Amino acid sequence: MLNRWEQNKTPDTALEQLVYQSRQVGAEESLVLWGGGNNSVKLPGSDLLGQPLDMMYIKGSGSDMKSIVPRQYPAVRLDYILPLLEREQLSDDEMVAYLAQCMLDPTSPRPSIETLLHAFLPHQAILHTHADAILAICNTQGREKTVRECFGENMILVPYIRPGFELSRQVALLSRRQPNAEGLILMNHGLITWGDNSEQAYDRHVELVSRAEEFAKFTETISGPGLTLPESQSRSEAVAKIGPVLRGLLGNTSFILEYDDSPEAMAFARREDAARITQIGPATPDHLLYTKRYPLFLEIDPEKVLSDIGEVKGYIAQELEKYTTAYTAYFEKHAAPGEKMLDPLPRIILAPGLGMWTVGKDARAARIVHDIYRQTMNIISAAERLGGFATLSEQDAFEAEYWPMELYKLSLLPKEKELSRKVALVTGAASGIGRAIARRFAEEGAHVVVTDLDGEGAEKVAAEICQKQGLRRGLGLKLDVTNPDAVAEAIAATCRAYGGLDIVVSNAGIAQVGAIDKLSLKDWERSLAVNTTGHFLVVRAALEVMKAQGNGGSIVFNATKNVTAPGKDFGAYSVSKAGEAQLCRIVAIEGGEFGIRANMLNPDAIFDGSQLWSEELKQQRAKAYGLSVEQLPDFYRQRNLLKAEVTGEDVAEAALFLAGPRSAKTTGTMLPVDGGVREAFPR
Ligand code: ZN
Repeated sequence: MLNRWEQNKTPDTALEQLVYQSRQVGAEESLVLWGGGNNSVKLPGSDLLGQPLDMMYIKGSGSDMKSIVPRQYPAVRLDYILPLLEREQLSDDEMVAYLAQCMLDPTSPRPSIETLLHAFLPHQAILHTHADAILAICNTQGREKTVRECFGENMILVPYIRPGFELSRQVALLSRRQPNAEGLILMNHGLITWGDNSEQAYDRHVELVSRAEEFAKFTETISGPGLTLPESQSRSEAVAKIGPVLRGLLGNTSFILEYDDSPEAMAFARREDAARITQIGPATPDHLLYTKRYPLFLEIDPEKVLSDIGEVKGYIAQELEKYTTAYTAYFEKHAAPGEKMLDPLPRIILAPGLGMWTVGKDARAARIVHDIYRQTMNIISAAERLGGFATLSEQDAFEAEYWPMELYKLSLLPKEKELSRKVALVTGAASGIGRAIARRFAEEGAHVVVTDLDGEGAEKVAAEICQKQGLRRGLGLKLDVTNPDAVAEAIAATCRAYGGLDIVVSNAGIAQVGAIDKLSLKDWERSLAVNTTGHFLVVRAALEVMKAQGNGGSIVFNATKNVTAPGKDFGAYSVSKAGEAQLCRIVAIEGGEFGIRANMLNPDAIFDGSQLWSEELKQQRAKAYGLSVEQLPDFYRQRNLLKAEVTGEDVAEAALFLAGPRSAKTTGTMLPVDGGVREAFPR
């Protein structure tokens, strides 16, 4: 393992050194992932009255080492904490309440659950990680022997105990017996090193992990029969097809899926012993809430997915049933009376020849599971080379998964948003109304596929959404809605990216101007191609996915006020849009039995950021009314009952209502967003 500490960059103060150490550790995924690991430094300080005391900076609970800042290190009083070592017992709740009283600044974040462990060790600087190579050697059959073979006798071994007071006490007692040890291994959990300062603790950490890596031949980990597998067309198609089936079978509290067909994941899933080694257990008790104990292992022929998805669906349903039955039995065996079962569904799905899916309530959660399981694959592979992967007992795993300290974190999560867990595809979303809708849906928790003829524009909007709302929350795709192949590919890409599709806003449209006798056939046909056939193609492909998922769906058509009140010189536009409106009603009629709703919006005169209103169109409309282009927005404003300027954001609010659960009992309807245009009242 690379030692990333650059001596000429060592900061001056102990706290800054601790932050620097944390960043170097966080940069190494094989040391810590997603909030794992922690570090501390002890130093003299003073209380509020200036009286000297011994204190310790310790990482705040849940903060991420790679991006940590000094503020995320609460300072705790050691003179209050050290006497706890004399106690026989201390419950988690008592410990948390006690630690809250030990903070020098009561407004700082809650200190790590492993604070006592750090405090009870006599050394200045302490570093603790869940290094993969360490987990590999201490998750083997006959683990003590393996660890001793790697490190010799000069290493303290602490048998598995879940984090808390008892573990901290055992660490303190065992380390007193071996004051000159090089480090300490928490079996099935991780490594602790120390030093006079953070640099020393880090150097030792890297050295010990490097030794374990060499011993476990970690560099050989990424190898196997799947490594050189060529990109297969049938696999790619199968993955797009199987995503909605999987997502649907995972139930109606929709999940977001992430697919991985990297050489490592493919190789691991294709190991001959994969069906066995994936069902042994987790490599660490950490993150069990995210990952569950085992993946769901499926043996599916990719060709079969393409030829008989029905049979494949039956097989997956049956395997899933076995999985949830086993989970329920595990829960019932270990749960205390009155304890509530978490959902019994898998979070990792492995299928040889297809790859890996990870499952989460959003893309971030699916990515966390993804990252954790990729490390787990390395750990399992290495442990197998060292004589066989063996892990926590079922009881220990249960206690880690249902540990109240972890469950408490769930209760702190904010309420889910209106469109959370949903995948929405919006066409014509690089600008104007489509863009306003994409942004609004993303704000409300949706994962949004932003499509547009202007591919770059779509990617820009998607990138902006990711930046604002988080990882993988937007996906930008170039899409010409008049091209059936392009539509099929965009829907397939959506299914590969998120596992399925719940909401479509069919928005892309064009406006051709001209009196009927002046209109060219080409312009007429182009209008129909985009404004009628384009909607048909997108919705046709989306319906197939929604039906495969079996969880209903919502389709919102962006129509126009012209559907109910057609305009002079707007023949091609009004007729093609009337086709769209009728399509919406048919989709509502045909979709009803599948829980798929279809509704339409009728906006009028949205100028703001719209591509529909080209300069040419503005000039033509202004001329038709005997106005200048500048007067046009005001003219339209004066024309409506509310004398209001209607914006893309106004339309986005209506789209949100029609797409989401608040309109759950509404289908086949038409909602004007036009400031009130009397002749356009739906009737
Ligand atoms: Zn730990």
